[in-house]
Amino acid sequence: MTEPIPVVIVVEDEPQIRRFIKVSLEAEGYLVFEADSIHRGLIEVGTRHPDLLVLDLGLPDGDGVDLIRDLRTWSDIPVIVLSARTMEGDKVGALDAGADDYLTKPFGAAELLARVRSQLRRRSHVVGAPGAIFRFGNIQIDVDKRTIERNEQPLHLSPIEYRLLTFLIAHPNKVLTHNQILKAVWGPLHANDSHYVRVYMGFLRKKIEADPSRPKHLVTEAGAGYRFIA
Ligand code: CA
Repeated sequence: MTEPIPVVIVVEDEPQIRRFIKVSLEAEGYLVFEADSIHRGLIEVGTRHPDLLVLDLGLPDGDGVDLIRDLRTWSDIPVIVLSARTMEGDKVGALDAGADDYLTKPFGAAELLARVRSQLRRRSHVVGAPGAIFRFGNIQIDVDKRTIERNEQPLHLSPIEYRLLTFLIAHPNKVLTHNQILKAVWGPLHANDSHYVRVYMGFLRKKIEADPSRPKHLVTEAGAGYRFIA
């Protein structure tokens, strides 16, 4: 049996950038379809059943964030956003709407391909299935028993720390905004308490990371949020 070829849709209105992305992805063996507007992009996603979407934010018929909002009502495929904008509000807006990662223009082929691979890998992870044991670094989590070990010694986490950690590992490689983390871990009433996230991320790093000042697993994404890397 051969592996199915991953299908990627690229929504980008600048022909040169679209071409660059298409050529880069095809060289890696992906099947690529192109769109130059939100309207066309939604049609392509609806008909091609892609594995991943690469999406520019500034499009002739609107903002890419609107495409993400529409898409997220019926699809959970990974979305990597491309943005020439350096304003952090734009990135966070796209991530909050449901994008999984972002690249700031200009970017190189190697970085694009690394992000694409990482998102496609994420899809094949299933965390939290019954009986699942999840391992990364020196950490082992038994999802059924809700127990955690570090170097085979029991590790005590508070309920909030446990919820925060399991939310992060359920979304490997995905940038999670403060807002998304607050809603998932503390609930919708705490949407403005982003200092909670920083404080508890500090607690978790002390317990999980070999060097909490240089985290390898609970990584800060400047101006956006956090990313869990196994
Ligand atoms: Ca554009």
